[in-house]
Amino acid sequence: MGFFDKIKKAFTGEEVPEEVTTEAVEKYEKGLEKTRKTFSERMNELFANFRSVDEDFFEELEETLIGADVGFNTALRITESLRQEVKLRNAKKSGEVRNAIIEKLVEIYEEEGIDEQNALNIQPEALTIILFVGVNGVGKTTSIGKLAYQYRQEGKKVLMAAADTFRAGAIDQLVVWGERAGVEVVRGQAGDDPASVVFDAVKQAKAEQTDILLVDTAGRLQNKINLMNELEKIKRIIQREIPEAPHEVLLVLDATTGQNAMVQAKQFKETTDVSGLVLTKLDGTAKGGIVLAIRNELHLPVKLVGLGEGLTDLQVFDPNEFVYGLFKGLLTTEEE
Ligand code: GDP
Ligand code: MG
Repeated sequence: MGFFDKIKKAFTGEEVPEEVTTEAVEKYEKGLEKTRKTFSERMNELFANFRSVDEDFFEELEETLIGADVGFNTALRITESLRQEVKLRNAKKSGEVRNAIIEKLVEIYEEEGIDEQNALNIQPEALTIILFVGVNGVGKTTSIGKLAYQYRQEGKKVLMAAADTFRAGAIDQLVVWGERAGVEVVRGQAGDDPASVVFDAVKQAKAEQTDILLVDTAGRLQNKINLMNELEKIKRIIQREIPEAPHEVLLVLDATTGQNAMVQAKQFKETTDVSGLVLTKLDGTAKGGIVLAIRNELHLPVKLVGLGEGLTDLQVFDPNEFVYGLFKGLLTTEEE
């Protein structure tokens, strides 16, 4: 399928699976509006100032990409391959250069994502355990609450474990989400051993034939060794009961923190085996380039995106749809 066909397909609604309601699609579109608009604006500005394909142009392109949170290394890499591409095609006119660039961006993005598994690893007939990790304030507890609600709506039996025992407030917050979502929370006292809370939760989940157990964890990173030990201990406790669990270890990242989120991700990858990402607050950022940076530099699939603070503001993520969305605005003015 050609590039333009893909764009068309992604936006004519043909590819929207039946179980996704129109409302969900609208929400998704709306949540990502800011990101997309600004990304296209930045790129359009670059093309509006286009004079000729020279070093200045490529430098500006690099700056534009960095400004959109694509990340330094990725921006350099992309610009380098674009230099070659533009030369190869002997592109000179603004429209030609623009198309060469956009097509190349999408191509790089697709190449990097070839073995990516974006769907959550859910056990259809058995208990699925999902561990959430990430620094404070990124949206772990909120995402767990939203996900619990979604699975409940689907008729699944859900349980949450408040293993962020670092602060009493963190436990209470999950309990509030539990009330909202109509899902029970296994909890201890502040200061308790997080692994013991998880132990209790796994026991209960097994006894009650729970479908999904969502585990909240503390996110202090000041002491990497401590955090690593704690997460390892939690995993060991889980694995003693269910050897192939946790089925997902989701690292939660706040999209509005841009490159800082990338740094956190690299640290967490060293600390524990992360199976995927939850990218929160995409509704609040104008710099969608982070999605490109994640794919190029982290090689971790984004599995869920947070698009607001409400119960229903968590969505599965379609990377291709997202990236075509970023460039959609650029293609409509293609003919000047
Ligand atoms: P935690 O420390 O990682 O557990 O983070 P919290 O779940 O407590 O979230 C921190 C703040 O981010 C809260 O005020 C949330 O309402 C907010 N938040 C979380 N996810 C999103 C999102 O997708 N969009 C927006 N706008 N806010 C979010
Ligand atoms: Mg929390």
